[in-house]
Amino acid sequence: MTTPLLHAKLKENFGFEKFRPNQEEIINSILSGQDTLAIMPTGGGKSICFQLPALVLPGITIVISPLIALMKDQVDSLKANGIPACFINSSQSSEEQQFYIESLQSNAIKLIYIAPESLSYLENTFNQLTISLIAIDEAHCISAWGHDFRPAYTNLGYLKNRFPTTPVLALTATADKATRQDISEQLNLKNPIVFIASFDRPNLSLEVRPALDRVKQIIDFIKDKPNESGIVYCLSRKTTEELAEKLQKTGINAKAYHAGLDSKMRSQTQDEFINDDCQVVCATIAFGMGIDKSNVRWVVHYNLPKNIEGYYQEIGRAGRDGLPSETVLFESYGDMIQLQKFASQGLNAEVQLAKLERMKQYADALSCRRKILLSYFGELVPENCGNCDICKNPPAFFDGTVIAQKALSAIIRVKENEPLPVIIDFLRGSKNAAIFEKEYQNLKTYGVGHDISWYDWNQYLIQLINLGYCEIAFHQQNKIRLTAFAKKVLFEGEKVSLNTVQKMSFGKTETKET
Ligand code: ADP
Ligand code: ZN
Repeated sequence: MTTPLLHAKLKENFGFEKFRPNQEEIINSILSGQDTLAIMPTGGGKSICFQLPALVLPGITIVISPLIALMKDQVDSLKANGIPACFINSSQSSEEQQFYIESLQSNAIKLIYIAPESLSYLENTFNQLTISLIAIDEAHCISAWGHDFRPAYTNLGYLKNRFPTTPVLALTATADKATRQDISEQLNLKNPIVFIASFDRPNLSLEVRPALDRVKQIIDFIKDKPNESGIVYCLSRKTTEELAEKLQKTGINAKAYHAGLDSKMRSQTQDEFINDDCQVVCATIAFGMGIDKSNVRWVVHYNLPKNIEGYYQEIGRAGRDGLPSETVLFESYGDMIQLQKFASQGLNAEVQLAKLERMKQYADALSCRRKILLSYFGELVPENCGNCDICKNPPAFFDGTVIAQKALSAIIRVKENEPLPVIIDFLRGSKNAAIFEKEYQNLKTYGVGHDISWYDWNQYLIQLINLGYCEIAFHQQNKIRLTAFAKKVLFEGEKVSLNTVQKMSFGKTETKET
């Protein structure tokens, strides 16, 4: 479709003047019949990417979404824009479901939202319907590599086989490289065109603080900005309630929010927050999905998040209007221990533990935090951001170019086929089974780093990962691989600044909560 026509549709049906980055390209990809994978940060405007094509295409658009609670809102807002839409889920009576199925059969509906568990309701009608587009929202839920795996999503691969000529659009805000590949394979996408919008949110400041006396720190933080609303994310339901109470006692207008509260109370808190009647919500990660409040001025993490994807999505709820907004993460040793326990008992323990470890490395990092986040999502940025605590208060650097060269060459020598500990053993010339089994002792550069301690090598390698020169392949036994940036150091004379290794450990600053 031509650009003016698409713009006219955008204005007429949604009231927007222009497309956000990638929206138009994604829409054109779908309209040309291509399977498409769209990766956009929260608030990037994913919905338009299937809602607008749904209007243009002759048949029905099926939208798979795990968020039953949000389907009604989405459908209501579509209807308000004059777009015939409905949803089918298990909360409805069978009469209601039947009514919508008949509306589909009579072509009275353009978009249908459905949870993956409920797809079977449509199975008998599929043959009578013209399906023009299948959109799979929150597509990372299909991947056990991701952070929000939903077993019901794993069956969705059959859709492509059932409707081989219907384009499938997979959308997600959070997917590292491994997860992206997995999404596309599991959904049986055919040569999908992949769009990755920049994840950079330069208006969000990034800060990590030790969890020393964090309640007091949070109170001071909020009192400093009495007219600005924000979210404090906590790990447990109990913490949200206790913290809200402590804040209330100091006169702060705060409420708790978690999935264990009854739905009336939850929607009341949500409404009050959106309407600026409640300044602070102390919430579990259940809060925020689909909440369209553009002037959230700050997000605090009371506890260490489970992984970088979740963390980035949560801080992303701040500053959607583009104005400067603050984010603060409190790190504590106690949280780390508890999260390790959860992760090791849960699904896909090895991957989740590695992701948690990466989260901790971020918190401990001594290099620009935005660089770390963006390189995690596959975006390599050459410049430091100037808007994180490290950039604002840089630690001491030394010229670590030679160290970097040795480390990156070692990774090449072992064919990017080993995890961090083996790389360190290799660099240090260790004589152990992991080395001898593969005869690494005969390779060039074996032992070139014998003068640096194991602990220091570990720190340097983590710094190199944080700087984006190499990465951890979570789904391949945590092997260390080089990124495109590595060649700058190896062949193009790029200098690498490293931080002096600090002996202080992560847990030192932990104290008992008041
Ligand atoms: P996502 O699903 O990626 O988190 P949404 O689709 O909910 O994002 O869109 C986020 C917000 O941006 C919504 O309020 C939406 O109406 C708005 N929006 C989307 N596209 C545009 C656009 N082209 N111009 C202006 N606002 C837009
Ligand atoms: Zn920075």
